[in-house]
Amino acid sequence: MTPPRKLHIKSYGCQMNVYDAQRMVDTLAGEGFTETATADDADLVILNTCNIREKAAEKVYSELGRLRVLKDDAARNGRQMRIAVAGCVAQAEGPEIIRRAPAVDVVVGPQSYHHLPQLLERAKAEGRAIETEFPIQDKFAFLPPPGREAIRARGISAFVTVQEGCDKFCTFCVVPYTRGAEVSRPVNRIVDDVARLADNGVREITLIGQNVNAYHGEGADGRPCSLGRLLDRLAQIPGIVRLRYATSHPCDVDDSLIAAHRDLPALMPFVHLPVQSGSDRILEAMNRRHTAADYRKTIDRFRSSRQDIAFSSDFIVGFPGESAEDFSATLALVTQIGYAAAYSFKYSPRPGTPAAEMQETVSATDMDERLARLQELIDSQQSAFNKAAIGSTVDVLFERAGRNVGQIVGRTAYLQPAHVMAPPEIVGQVLPVRIDSLERYSLLGELALTLPERAGAPTAPRLTTGA
Ligand code: SAM
Ligand code: SF4
Repeated sequence: MTPPRKLHIKSYGCQMNVYDAQRMVDTLAGEGFTETATADDADLVILNTCNIREKAAEKVYSELGRLRVLKDDAARNGRQMRIAVAGCVAQAEGPEIIRRAPAVDVVVGPQSYHHLPQLLERAKAEGRAIETEFPIQDKFAFLPPPGREAIRARGISAFVTVQEGCDKFCTFCVVPYTRGAEVSRPVNRIVDDVARLADNGVREITLIGQNVNAYHGEGADGRPCSLGRLLDRLAQIPGIVRLRYATSHPCDVDDSLIAAHRDLPALMPFVHLPVQSGSDRILEAMNRRHTAADYRKTIDRFRSSRQDIAFSSDFIVGFPGESAEDFSATLALVTQIGYAAAYSFKYSPRPGTPAAEMQETVSATDMDERLARLQELIDSQQSAFNKAAIGSTVDVLFERAGRNVGQIVGRTAYLQPAHVMAPPEIVGQVLPVRIDSLERYSLLGELALTLPERAGAPTAPRLTTGA
């Protein structure tokens, strides 16, 4: 019997990459690979790359330099280590990767990783294998589902890709070029995936897609189904107590999504709705297809569905042409909306995008200064949001043991980490927690109910589903 081969995957970037990495592990499990935590003893190392900003892409080449040394060491010890580059840098750069890093054996784009077993075979026979086409076939139809053990090891919260690619073509963004056109998976396949996860202990599902609320997969009636209706269907699956989705575009928020927030207790009242800028001039140059006022109206529609709804967002500072007034409009929008959290980035020109042809007008110093001011404002909003939880009782879905003995960590509806001292049986349950303090971004508290005696078989305490 051949010993199991060891696979190490390092993933960069977004949630879609985390999900893709898991599906690569599932695909290669069928080839006798088991996951290992470090590259040192791996037979195959996959870098699952991100190309969204220059820094993310450059990290790949420095990592490949380190891996070449490991590969040479392995060869000196009579062991073969193979290196694959997957994800969006693979898609964008293709053969250029092997030119710059000849130690690489396989280059595979995000639409083709279901072909990894064949590509590894081809690399064995021919020395190299590259696949960065957008194949006609839907890769999801060819990916083996994760095994029971893998699902359990990944915990009670899982990502499920429901939509891929993007047709929006924001002028700064590489996604439409690296992930291709928008495609939605059929409802029945997603329902099967979620039911399988639920059967194996998963309690929270985050539906993911580059533009997830553009979802329009085929429903049971053969007609396109919206994200709101899909969420409604998934909320009926036994065992699923929390649903989330990311990332949404403000232009694709339809009434069914607003209704889902109104009607589904399992749908968490926390929406990531990137706006990028508060200036209409910059939004237009970015080709975002909406104004700041449109965005505010969309936020109001969400707020009308649930009083306790909160928002996070993405911002880019220093886009070509951004004046001091444009940046002030961004600060004004943030002040007006009031976010629970947000990500902000310095503009990074990406080769092949329309914005990369625009003249960069914001100096590095101004960009740094604007980013710092924006982050300070966002941080103050986030701190105020977290502090407001002190003294209240909130529902927490418990995920795992904490760092301190006897501590269990979970998340609130707003993804705030919450720590309590409690027995491990509470993992996988939503329980009320009285919050009494805050440590950086984490809430500390105690269970607001008495657990049944631990003697004998552990009985489950009350299970709640709401926020
Ligand atoms: N589809 C989402 C949307 O429309 O907002 C965003 C997807 S993108 C993977 C995540 C975030 O990266 C974007 O919201 C944007 O803030 C940031 N981003 C994308 N391209 C960028 C660039 N060229 N420079 C800086 N930040 C960028
Ligand atoms: Fe990129 Fe999002 Fe714009 Fe699509 S909608 S092009 S993924 S920023």
